[in-house]
Amino acid sequence: MSEVTANAHCRCGKVELEIDADPILKTVCNCGSCRQAAHIFEQLPGAEPIAGENGGVPYILFRKDAIRCTAGQDHLRDHRLTESSPTRRIVATCCNTFMFLDFTKGHWVSVFPPILDDQAIVEQAPVKDRQSPMFILTLLTAWAGMGFRMPKIQFVKGKLESV
Ligand SMILES: [Zn+2]
Ligand SMILES: [Zn+2]
Repeated sequence: MSEVTANAHCRCGKVELEIDADPILKTVCNCGSCRQAAHIFEQLPGAEPIAGENGGVPYILFRKDAIRCTAGQDHLRDHRLTESSPTRRIVATCCNTFMFLDFTKGHWVSVFPPILDDQAIVEQAPVKDRQSPMFILTLLTAWAGMGFRMPKIQFVKGKLESV
């Protein structure tokens, strides 16, 4: 874990997150699910663009036990593309900001980089291509550092109903 705490917030500021760890890596995901979800969330009232110019979605990954919600928890809702999907994406409904992706079978949380207060953290994070062996290796190394535990994010209650 890091001495530094990364702070993040939704666009209107009602939801605040704190992350007590350095980022594991940053990447862009071009998979169909991320593109589809980005398109859905971009249609929400007041939402800003999520996908980049090539349609991929940027993420910065942290260990899952490092993230907590310090304000506005009631505004957070999750969305799954299919009922049984292990992947849920979290939106702050106060201002329809996409916050992070939670692969519930993984040990990391994929944060949408623009929500971080300090963009220098994003700039300095190591880039790993989503398709490269180094991506998996870096995630595994981080998991070893966590004692191969599989923490859960407990602070998101309820489903996104407006889509
Ligand atoms: Zn908000
Ligand atoms: Zn994806």
